[in-house]
Amino acid sequence: MQNPFENAMTQLDGAAKALDLGTKVKILYKPKRILKAEIPVIMDNKKTKKFKAFRVQYNDVRGPFKGGIRFHQQVDLNEVKALSFWMTIKTAAVNIPMGGGKGGIIVNPKKLSQNELEKLSRGYIKAFYKYLGPKKDVPAPDVNTNSQIMDWMVDEYSKLTGKKQLGVITGKSLKNGGSLGRATATADGGFFVLQQVVKKLKIKPKETKVAIQGFGNAGSNIVHLLYHAGFKIVAVSDSQTTVVDSSTKGFDFHTIEKIKKSKGRVDICECHKNNCNCQDHYHVSPQKIVELPCDILVLAALENQITKENVNKVKAKIILELANGPITPDADCELFGSQKIVIPDVLANAGGVTVSYFEWLQNIKKQKWSKSEVRKKLKKIMIDAYDEICQTAKNHKTDLRTGAFITALKRICK
Ligand code: NAD
Repeated sequence: MQNPFENAMTQLDGAAKALDLGTKVKILYKPKRILKAEIPVIMDNKKTKKFKAFRVQYNDVRGPFKGGIRFHQQVDLNEVKALSFWMTIKTAAVNIPMGGGKGGIIVNPKKLSQNELEKLSRGYIKAFYKYLGPKKDVPAPDVNTNSQIMDWMVDEYSKLTGKKQLGVITGKSLKNGGSLGRATATADGGFFVLQQVVKKLKIKPKETKVAIQGFGNAGSNIVHLLYHAGFKIVAVSDSQTTVVDSSTKGFDFHTIEKIKKSKGRVDICECHKNNCNCQDHYHVSPQKIVELPCDILVLAALENQITKENVNKVKAKIILELANGPITPDADCELFGSQKIVIPDVLANAGGVTVSYFEWLQNIKKQKWSKSEVRKKLKKIMIDAYDEICQTAKNHKTDLRTGAFITALKRICK
């Protein structure tokens, strides 16, 4: 597996070369602070287990560190460093006054009980709370973390500091200071940008086949939006399987959602055969989805999904990176060379952090915005950022990722 932090630094090199930023850019080659801890949890069997945890505070020149906390068995420091660097670029690319940070715990949360998960989440805050705060560092959800976990975390922070400060964490539940529109924000933001590309290329949704890798928060919400906009959903994957449409109809979002809930994996058939190939669909491995025939490929799972090994097999003309770092730099070069459009993570998934910023603002100002207000403000930020990044990419004769990095670097270095 490629080191995501090295990939991130290769991307930084590419954009820094295009600009004359002198020594100012040097601070972006390493994080400002790396925090590590071993979190002890008394498990349900009364034995104590320790979990390794990280918080990387990459850069805060434009505002408090901002970024999610990931619970995954493959979390490592290089991954968290890369994700915190991308957050720094992302917040600057869409011009919100926040910096970049990220956190993670090495754990498979599916193997924990609710009680153990709560203790672990509270333990993360006990370990790092002195470095967190509404004006210091504001975590949020990421892979395998959700509003319930954020609620536990904000409660623990309030206990430890002796006062309720909702603005320390975003992605909270609505009843606990969360923002309307946060749950769907990442997909909404990606969809607004994709709509601009689709409009520009004069593509008709009904004639456009889309494959989506990942059916979690980002993935399932974008399938919902694409389905209702009339796109043809031809494949969807999760960590266990890819279900592929073998008819010409395309999948119904609601059927996939319902069956994912009952079977625990993406499927469109209620039969109980393992990866059944009943009428109108078949299954392939989760990774194979990137090679399937389609017009748009949405990557909404994890890093390093398109690499130099499989890039030649990619058939989609447009790739939307809702996940962070799903394409390696060498594969990126090849995709640009073969005139495929990659809508890069630092733009495509910035809707999540943008509405997190809205939540933080509402908490600090003690306001409550309506869902339509949130969506309207989000749409404007995403479309403005897309236009600016396109123009920058055009001026520098480069791809959208480098365009986004150049836009961000100018702001950070200023
Ligand atoms: P999630 O935990 O809700 O969902 C992850 C999904 O990916 C699950 O459906 C899982 O089954 C699937 N998956 C895991 N490994 C896979 C594989 N090898 N092949 C196919 N599917 C696989 O996480 P999420 O919040 O949706 O995050 C997904 C990506 O989007 C991550 O890269 C995350 O950093 C990024 N992102 C999320 C947000 C957000 O607001 N949720 C914001 C910005 C970026």
